[in-house]
Amino acid sequence: VGVTTKLQHVPISEIFGPVIQGEGPLAGVPTVFVRVAGCDYRCTWCDTPYAVLPELWSRTAERLTAVEIADRVAVLSGNWVTLSGGNPAMYDLTTVVDELHEHGFSVAVETQGSKWMPWLEEVEQLVVSPKPPSSGMDAKAEREFPRFAQRVHELYLDGQWDNTNPPALKVVVFDEADLVFARRVHTTSWPEMLPLYLSVGTDPPTDTTTLADVRRQVCDRYAWLMGRVAEGSDVFDERVLPQLHVLAYGHARGV
Ligand code: SF4
Repeated sequence: VGVTTKLQHVPISEIFGPVIQGEGPLAGVPTVFVRVAGCDYRCTWCDTPYAVLPELWSRTAERLTAVEIADRVAVLSGNWVTLSGGNPAMYDLTTVVDELHEHGFSVAVETQGSKWMPWLEEVEQLVVSPKPPSSGMDAKAEREFPRFAQRVHELYLDGQWDNTNPPALKVVVFDEADLVFARRVHTTSWPEMLPLYLSVGTDPPTDTTTLADVRRQVCDRYAWLMGRVAEGSDVFDERVLPQLHVLAYGHARGV
């Protein structure tokens, strides 16, 4: 997948909402989702393979212009639009963000922090999720995330974002190694005054996984992670959340 220019069409896997954001700093807030197709990572537990694997998304994604994307979002209403993926930072979305702003939306972005794009400076809520060991992508994250974080740090110190919605670091945690990774990237790369969101990971479903299975798994892992964080002596900049949409709906799409 190459980086597009402003005039090109962006492959969009799905646009849906408004739904309730299930994780990170906007957890509980209604938002429309725009899921961009294409990703430079291949996480073992990725919950959106249909937006990651070219053999899947190339058949189903629509190629839309910035105006077409904004028009589709406008029909769905709401205050927030979340650009997700895949990795939306694979593309130049400058005009998409401009169009959404012209329609009066606040724009959030979710990216793993592998590629910096200048348009990321223009969004109201940047959420960066470097991938921990359980993803199988941690070696790549260790190489790529520090440079991305450095850019965020510089812009934050320059006053690029106000303190209403400062850039957020969110790490999915399945186990102890993921927690260690999350704390390390938070303390070594990220602006230390900004909170770390720990988001409890969920195993990919099998053919026989029920909603009750998913809920039990989420709650068990959430209880473990709450306990681990609460036993620390310096936990005030860590926020522990389950993925609320998974707790409510399991692995259903479009919710
Ligand atoms: S970075 Fe996100 S979208 Fe890409 S493979 Fe990993 S979990 Fe999936």
